[in-house]
Amino acid sequence: MLIPLDELVNFLRRCLNEHIGPYREVYLPVMPSGQDSPHSTLAPLREKTCPALDGHRTIDPAKILVYGARERVAPFDRESLPALLAGVKACDVKALEILDRALINEDFVDPAYKSWRDRTTVLSFDCTDTAPTCHCTLAGGKPYAETGFDANAARFGGHYFLSAATDKGRTLLDLIRKHVRVDTTHDRIPAAVEARRAEMTAKVESQNAEFARSAEYGRLRSSPPEVWKEESRECVGCGACTHICPTCYCLILNDESQAANFVKVRSYDSCQLHGYARVASGASPRPRVDERFRHRYLCKFVFMKKEFGSLGCTGCGRCTEACPGGIEFRSVVRHLMETPPGGRPAAGPA
Ligand code: SF4
Ligand code: SF4
Ligand code: SF4
Repeated sequence: MLIPLDELVNFLRRCLNEHIGPYREVYLPVMPSGQDSPHSTLAPLREKTCPALDGHRTIDPAKILVYGARERVAPFDRESLPALLAGVKACDVKALEILDRALINEDFVDPAYKSWRDRTTVLSFDCTDTAPTCHCTLAGGKPYAETGFDANAARFGGHYFLSAATDKGRTLLDLIRKHVRVDTTHDRIPAAVEARRAEMTAKVESQNAEFARSAEYGRLRSSPPEVWKEESRECVGCGACTHICPTCYCLILNDESQAANFVKVRSYDSCQLHGYARVASGASPRPRVDERFRHRYLCKFVFMKKEFGSLGCTGCGRCTEACPGGIEFRSVVRHLMETPPGGRPAAGPA
């Protein structure tokens, strides 16, 4: 079905103001006030916020909402209210699918994450623009979500074409139909939406032509140590790349109990930090920066692929933006993939 652009935003506001549907909070990309920036951030919808549902992914990943940087996990308050997460783009939707496999499975369930996922309806939006670091197509993705969303909105002129993929998504669309005048004559993806999707995919491919690489990521394992040392030369081991990554979920559990009050708090950890996996004797499995740097790339392209059946990188490009050492993630992967197992040939005399 089709809904005028403004009507969708009005509906989201009415959900909060008129208590339409079960949603007691709506999160969406907003433009930071007073800043002339092309980058939006995820925030709760408020009277004065300026929603930015189109464009490209937000600065911060959707992970920040459903898997907070610091959350109490025991005792866990299960009385939380339903929420609507609108405007997430394909790279973040794909990341949520990976986090689902990591944090809700037969061996382990993170109660706080599961609670967020159960009560949150994800309304994804097709990308209508790209950030310079976006490279979903290199990671096997597209600039529109194909799976993992509850409902999706695709720009169609002055309207959005809405479709649903789950019961939560169908509930949302039923509510919209009930409260907004929509055009229900379109029940299939219009040709113009397909054309725009193809155009956006070509745009992402074109901006990444210089970073094109093979998909045989098992080769990363045999890249020689000196190449990892060279690639990690500017790395200061700060962990910004993993904290901002939508699929990183390594955690540290702290006991913050006081007297009889038992409290466990989960915070982000990072394999890029020296203290990661360090044991009481002080021994660390990866004491050097280049070893930790290597581990992250192997985690994204080899370990997660083996564990979850898909790459642990969705091509969002945030790690490049966040890196204080100016390390371009795509260049590192391409260089490493191009390196023969025996190492790079020594440079000849000038
Ligand atoms: S091991 Fe490192 S790269 Fe892998 S999920 Fe943990 S923090 Fe992220
Ligand atoms: S590794 Fe970098 S580009 Fe890939 S998903 Fe994580 S932050 Fe995005
Ligand atoms: S953000 Fe850059 S400097 Fe910091 S740990 Fe990651 S690669 Fe190293």
